[in-house]
Amino acid sequence: MSANWRPETLMELTSRGNVALTCRCGHRGILDGPKLTKYYFAHQWNGRMHMIGDHLKCSRCGARHPRIRLTGDNPTSDFGPRDDRGWNELRRRLRG
Ligand SMILES: [Zn+2]
Repeated sequence: MSANWRPETLMELTSRGNVALTCRCGHRGILDGPKLTKYYFAHQWNGRMHMIGDHLKCSRCGARHPRIRLTGDNPTSDFGPRDDRGWNELRRRLRG
């Protein structure tokens, strides 16, 4: 991997691993990369790197737009649906 590799979209980033988020308050968390991408697709949120922070809210201080980078570490916190049924329910709800 090139040292100055800069992904343009969340999908590009998460094709290589998980996502490490660091809030300005110092709170850190790691999210499952592919699951995060799926979650953005389900909501039809914009996946461009400068846009994805709009939807990432710190669980400690509530701030958005954390620093985002690629990591090979395991997720530290869970989010979103836990199984296929959950995903189907989410998509149905979002379609209204
Ligand atoms: Zn925070």
